[in-house]
Amino acid sequence: MSTIVSVDTRDIRFPTSLELDGSDAMNPDPDYSAAYVTIRTDAPDGLAGDAFVFTIGRGNDVQVAAIDTLRGHLLGRDVEELLRDMGETSRLLMHDSQLRWLGPEKGVMHMAIGAVVNALWDLRAKRAGLPLWQHLASLSPEELVSLVDFRYLTDAITPDEALAILRAAEPGRAERTARLLEVGYPAYTTTPGWLGYSDEKLERLCREAVADGFPQIKLKVGADLDDDVRRLGIARRAVGPDFPIAIDANQRWDVSDAIAWVNALAEFHPAWIEEPTSPDDILGHAAIARGIRPVRVATGEHVQNRIVFKQLLQAGGMAVMQIDATRVGGVNENIANLLLAAKFGVPVCPHAGGVGLCEAVQHLSMFDYVAVSGSMDGRMIEYVDHLHEHFAVPTEVVRGRYLAPTAPGASTEMLQESVDAYTWRGAHAEVTA
Ligand SMILES: [Mg+2]
Repeated sequence: MSTIVSVDTRDIRFPTSLELDGSDAMNPDPDYSAAYVTIRTDAPDGLAGDAFVFTIGRGNDVQVAAIDTLRGHLLGRDVEELLRDMGETSRLLMHDSQLRWLGPEKGVMHMAIGAVVNALWDLRAKRAGLPLWQHLASLSPEELVSLVDFRYLTDAITPDEALAILRAAEPGRAERTARLLEVGYPAYTTTPGWLGYSDEKLERLCREAVADGFPQIKLKVGADLDDDVRRLGIARRAVGPDFPIAIDANQRWDVSDAIAWVNALAEFHPAWIEEPTSPDDILGHAAIARGIRPVRVATGEHVQNRIVFKQLLQAGGMAVMQIDATRVGGVNENIANLLLAAKFGVPVCPHAGGVGLCEAVQHLSMFDYVAVSGSMDGRMIEYVDHLHEHFAVPTEVVRGRYLAPTAPGASTEMLQESVDAYTWRGAHAEVTA
């Protein structure tokens, strides 16, 4: 038996606002940040579990404090017991009723629980000697169903229906694992489209994205319609008439504004409109979806839990599900989201970028391909070429595809020198000095 001996947290912030990387209509100056947690044990293998919540700067300290409140559930606990039944472990953290009051199951506290759950999954996959996607895809359909909290979901998907989806995918697992290791998983790039970039930089990065083999690009929109028309025109001319261009409004609009604005951009044939309005406005998303056909609505990076995903699907408000590795309650709740998407026949194209989101979420898409949806059709993971060098096992994207990670774990471990160098001390000048 081994026990958890420490739960260390760090407030890590990168000075990305200085270059306007990541700038969009609602977030003009993000500093990509990680509320980072490391769970250590006294096991002789020396393995630790690492994970984080992604934030964009101020408030990262609040997120760290939220993770710290969970320490009492972990210190001194039997590690094997916690890792053996991750469904029960996740429920233990979710159902601390005093902490649950802060949500329930949403926001800072929920994301903190997600970080701890993800760190335990990182540890468990490292112990299994497998990358997380492959470790999850090695579990039986019954084990996978036991990971999911079906409370509030059974009007849309029951455990039996989930079991049927997973069993149907079971016979092809080995073949798809081999294919994934051979060809990787499709990626699309948001690098050209940040709102703070000049027209010249936009055009150059669009051409580079096509030359680099990406199957789709994405542009930020929503600050100024004339600018959007000009920038989409530049991008469309750069990539050609048939190349998919998605657009992302980052929650900028009211419902009627969204419908009018997207229809005004229809001539550029957007592959989807992402986050047109508040991520909590389920009926608003459904109204937008009806008002902008055939353009599809994509959302999810700010969807707070499986219940909102359920309702977006039930209401017809979401044609593309964009899960985020650190927004919800961790791997377990994202398995629920993947099962919901499979039930409703909606493709999952995860949100990534930031710091570490590509590293973390690739495992969920790859697990989905092997063991849930069984398909890569119409599916791709967002990719932004930022900050990967700070990770022990950085994402590898080659010719527009994520290579399947083979190192044990969830790819969420940062290099110690990066953790030390970018731990927030109150100002970037000190961090970068
Ligand atoms: Mg987005």
